[in-house]
Amino acid sequence: MRGRWSGRLSLGWFAAAVAVGIVAMNQRAALAAWAYGAVAVCAPLLMVAVWCTKCAGRSCCAHVLPGKLAGRLSRGPGPYSAADYLLCGLAIALLLLVPQVALVRQPPLLALFWVLVVAGAVHVRRGACRVCANEHCPAHGAASPRVSGNPHPE
Ligand code: SF4
Repeated sequence: MRGRWSGRLSLGWFAAAVAVGIVAMNQRAALAAWAYGAVAVCAPLLMVAVWCTKCAGRSCCAHVLPGKLAGRLSRGPGPYSAADYLLCGLAIALLLLVPQVALVRQPPLLALFWVLVVAGAVHVRRGACRVCANEHCPAHGAASPRVSGNPHPE
């Protein structure tokens, strides 16, 4: 149960970080804020299409929504290709780096952005990763104890 709770909470932290990025960008240029808002919608969808569709645990995803979306797409579980890593990395880089131009000029928002990102990452690693069945993900089993048997013992 803890993994699911952490998985849901982590998405909340990440969404809050993106909202902080949008606020920071909006104070510089409204158009840039809208552009980042579009990135914030498209990048997670790209990650779902590239990464989650190959996840063997998508039917019991701790983050819930990505697993449900991935279940509607027709890619089977399996190892990730170089293109998968590249596209997923690109999506993460866009989400994290695009707002930095505006955030570096607003230190309190910069600090808040990274606190929220780190909080999300901690909840993913300490909670969601522990119950994830995606054996092809590099983070699988990263947080001990390593998952074996039923990955969702709730
Ligand atoms: S566990 Fe991770 S990789 Fe699997 S569907 Fe959920 S978010 Fe995607």
